[in-house]
Amino acid sequence: MALTGAGISTESGIPDFRSPGEGFWTKVDPAFFTVQGFKNNPAEFYRFGMGLFQDILNASPNQAHFALAELQQRGLLRSIITQNIDGLHQKAGSDRVYEVHGNLRGATCFKGCARQVPIEEVVRQIFGGQLPPLCNDCGRPLKPDVVLFGEGMAPDFSEAINEVRTADLILIIGASMRVAPVNMLPRMVKNMVIINRERTMHDRRARAVIHGDASEATRLIVEELDRRASSPGN
Ligand code: NAD
Repeated sequence: MALTGAGISTESGIPDFRSPGEGFWTKVDPAFFTVQGFKNNPAEFYRFGMGLFQDILNASPNQAHFALAELQQRGLLRSIITQNIDGLHQKAGSDRVYEVHGNLRGATCFKGCARQVPIEEVVRQIFGGQLPPLCNDCGRPLKPDVVLFGEGMAPDFSEAINEVRTADLILIIGASMRVAPVNMLPRMVKNMVIINRERTMHDRRARAVIHGDASEATRLIVEELDRRASSPGN
């Protein structure tokens, strides 16, 4: 299985949260991305989050997303657990993607009638000057279907736990492993391989650690698999 975090999508132009000097938290106060922050001031949530949401909605998958889709096609990778909300694994052709922090495809009426709308409705209202965007039925704010700090995990999380229990190797890409409870999942798998620009709390337990860029490291993995597949005796 693979477990991916915001780092797999930085090369698609979406900033991660914690990279020193360039992560989103260097520009925006994390307090706006808590459920309490949204409740207190949904307009500010959108004012600060809009740049990130636009980056996400305009992004395309990069080599690392395509490499994982390729490994899936070859039957080497069963499924992907992602902390990301950008949908880039699916855009790259992957299926069996567990989005444990939700997604940005839709939004739901917050503490009102729970009506769900596609994200395009949110974008339309924002560009029409309506901040925060509101439910057309009951007038409450619309909240993107992403898990904010302080909220419960998305339903995909329990399925991800079930699946991770039977994995024989987990390939972690671009995740600082500082976000709970996802950072507990690798402990449930015997073999771990990590691709990340910086050290993580799991490095010492991993079978292999590559400190580098996700796109380059995954390109080399696919190339090596190709080389082995075409070498005599395989
Ligand atoms: P994080 O910001 O905590 O950590 C990202 C890690 O990726 C860092 O350790 C960084 O060194 C590494 N990294 C950055 N670019 C890389 C690259 N090209 N190759 C290899 N490593 C790279 O991210 P996180 O652990 O995923 O946690 C942040 C939370 O914020 C996530 O849970 C997610 O829900 C959310 N988020 C999602 C997106 C998205 O959907 N693309 C973007 C930002 C934040």
